Amino acid sequence: MQAMVLKKLKTPLEWTELPDRQPGPTEIRVKVLACGVCRTDLHVVDGELPNPKLPIILGHEIVGRIDAVGSGVKDLKMGERVGIPWLGHTDGTCPYCLMHRENLCDHPIFTGFTRDGGYATAAIADARFAFPLGEVGSDVSIAPLLCAGLIGWRSLVIAGEAKKIGFYGFGAAAHILAQVARWQGRQVFAFTRSGDKHTQAFAKSLGAIWAGGSEDSPPEPLDAAIIFAPVGALVPLALKAVRKGGRVVCAGIHMSDVPSFPYGILWEERELLSVANLTRKDGIDFLSLAPKIGIKVTTKQYPLRQANEALADLRAGRFEGAAVLTP
Ligand SMILES: [Zn+2]
Ligand SMILES: [Zn+2]
Repeated sequence: MQAMVLKKLKTPLEWTELPDRQPGPTEIRVKVLACGVCRTDLHVVDGELPNPKLPIILGHEIVGRIDAVGSGVKDLKMGERVGIPWLGHTDGTCPYCLMHRENLCDHPIFTGFTRDGGYATAAIADARFAFPLGEVGSDVSIAPLLCAGLIGWRSLVIAGEAKKIGFYGFGAAAHILAQVARWQGRQVFAFTRSGDKHTQAFAKSLGAIWAGGSEDSPPEPLDAAIIFAPVGALVPLALKAVRKGGRVVCAGIHMSDVPSFPYGILWEERELLSVANLTRKDGIDFLSLAPKIGIKVTTKQYPLRQANEALADLRAGRFEGAAVLTP
């Protein structure tokens, strides 16, 4: 197999020839068909997340076809198309797993962070954490659903019944979630880097009823806001944009420091919370809903060997939607 490998933090990925790996008894091996590029991958490269496995193959939005099956795997078959998400394994026994919050497991394994991921021609996964995908939809358009879509979905559920909802940062996740929210009958307000007219127009093309800069006030108070951009300064801005009792959800795994803010913008029962990881139920719920909504995923495709260009373009905000690697 070949892979783009992160050997050392803050260095470019390196094209590497590796021996083929065999799945263990509870694992599958897939031939990678497509792998999405997520902002979390940048946080790993930048050393912003604690204790990565190194060297590591990044990538946790994997669409693959099973080409080897462990002896103990019952539910998946050779040749089946599956999705492999960020949540790669949980212990099943810690207090969080036992309270059905496996996203908070004390001993998790994360794909592309503490186990090798999909910036490769092949990947190994715990069969219990892979999602059967069926044959509807293209590999490239499904890949971004596996994190941007899934964790975005979890954030939207946690945002609650909000009719008027703001999205701060209109990248891969928000461009999918705008379509979900609109399908649910909500009104979407899109906040981008100030002056980014191109992304504001993109947001409107996906159904946002208003788009502006992140420092702008929305035309009316919001019921909830989700912050997708890894920018702590957005927290007080979002709190100011929501009404009394409104909720602000931080969807990212990492954010720059949140500046201090007057208590008055949190008071009146506004809520501020974060989303971590996903549960398998999130995946099953969202992946069964996505085809009904008819989500159109905007992608920029890169050959696997150009993973460094894809990461650089994501960092610079040089494309709309999601970047996807294909071997
Ligand atoms: Zn656990
Ligand atoms: Zn991700």
